[in-house]
This record gives sequence, C-alpha cells and structure tokens, in this order.
Amino acid sequence: MHGHLGHAQQKNMCSPKKRMRLITTALVLLALFLAVLCGCQQKSSGEKTEKQESCVVIYINSKEYTRVALGEDQVVEIDQSNGKINKVTITADGAFMSYSTCENQNCVLQGSVTLDNYAQRALGEWIICLPNQVTVELIEGEAE
Ligand SMILES: [Zn+2]
Repeated sequence: MHGHLGHAQQKNMCSPKKRMRLITTALVLLALFLAVLCGCQQKSSGEKTEKQESCVVIYINSKEYTRVALGEDQVVEIDQSNGKINKVTITADGAFMSYSTCENQNCVLQGSVTLDNYAQRALGEWIICLPNQVTVELIEGEAE
C-alpha cells in the first residue's frame, strides 16, 4: 500500500541514535530549567518583593525533603522512622546540624554553614550526614 514511501523517510537526521541524544539533552535541559524555576520562589511569591530569599534545603537520599527560608531560629526534625533522626537548626543567616543519631557525628562536627562562611568552608554550602543520607544545602538568595 505505502510501497515507495519507505526510502524517502529514512533521512540521516532522524536516525534513532541522534534522536535519543536530542531527547536526553532536552530532558536534562528541562530538569535544569525546572530546578531553577522551583528554586526558593514558592515562599516569596506572595510577598511584596520578588527577590529570592536565602533558604536551606534538606535532602534525604538526595530527594528534597523540605526547604525553609532563613529567619528566626527553628529546628527541623528529620525522622526517617527507621531509627535515623537528624535535627537541623535554621538561623537567620544559615543552618547547622544540631543533633544526629549517626555514629560518627561528622555532620554535627561540620558546624554551621552561613551566608558569610560557606565560600570558605571545605564543604561549601553543604552539611552532609553520610550514615543517615541526610544533606543540607544553603542557597543564597538574590542580593538587593
Ligand atoms: Zn551524621
């Protein structure tokens, strides 16, 4: 029925390999785009200024668990209901791991990450608890 159409459609630019690559690239770009979009903007959308607030993002197993804007001191408890518990204290200018059930306590010893010190820290904007797979990232908002 469609007999001779076959050959004409087999152009190089549509080869499956190139297509896969294009799709992969597109997905990566989309992911990046979404990551940027989702930034810290949820919280500030309703406020008078549009500038992005500095915030702290907490991940479990590299999945985002919660994000909290810097501000008054508060403690975020991360209870994975398997005996692993971490507590992150958020302050006006950063955060620190104030409690952890992990054996090595490295995360607690990593001290606080703040807007002032993260550029000089060995771990940069991160506090990492490897045993519990909890990571904390400080994201600096836009300066005025
Ligand atoms: Zn730890």
